Amino acid sequence: MENHVVWQEGCVSRSDRNRLNNHKSGVIWLTGLSASGKSTIAHALEKELFNRGVRCCVLDGDNVRHGLTSDLGFSPGDRRENLRRVAEVAKLMADAGLLVIAAFISPCRDDRRVVREILDGNMIAGVYVKCSIGECERRDPKGQYMKARAGIIRDYTGITSPYEEPLEPGLVLDTEENGVRESVGLLLDFLRRRGLF
Ligand code: ADP
Repeated sequence: MENHVVWQEGCVSRSDRNRLNNHKSGVIWLTGLSASGKSTIAHALEKELFNRGVRCCVLDGDNVRHGLTSDLGFSPGDRRENLRRVAEVAKLMADAGLLVIAAFISPCRDDRRVVREILDGNMIAGVYVKCSIGECERRDPKGQYMKARAGIIRDYTGITSPYEEPLEPGLVLDTEENGVRESVGLLLDFLRRRGLF
């Protein structure tokens, strides 16, 4: 479809916003199996950043599916579209000066590549929240693995749908080795070393 819409430039630049906030903006993208700990770590990190005066927010896989992408399912095409929309929203938020913590299973390498392309210079790093399927199933905080095993939920990542581990993650958080506080500490160090705040 031909697009005749012309981009409208604003008067406040991203660097103006970063200066006002006294920190940089961008997106940190957490990928990993369901129950690996992405949301738990994302919200704990958000709290720590908030306490340090960083304007940040979490985009959470389960939450966006209640609104922004509630029309989508879990087929490969719908998962791709889910992530495309989220990446576009995350980019708008980063442009607006926020440090965005995105927590999405994002199981396919190809889809994560598309996310990176959309985010372009806004991507701070992809973080692999690593946990074995056995441990994720044992945790099963929402009872979804049980439902997937019983055939009640179809296309469940790690059970009936694949998860492709990142080949070159910016950071790996092994949640069978590290507690939540340790993971958040590693993330804070990582962001500090990159001069984010
Ligand atoms: P995800 O967002 O990856 O689906 P959640 O954060 O929703 O995962 O759930 C992870 C569950 O595992 C939570 O109940 C959390 O308390 C628990 N958990 C146990 N150990 C850890 C850990 N080291 N890091 C993160 N979560 C952990």
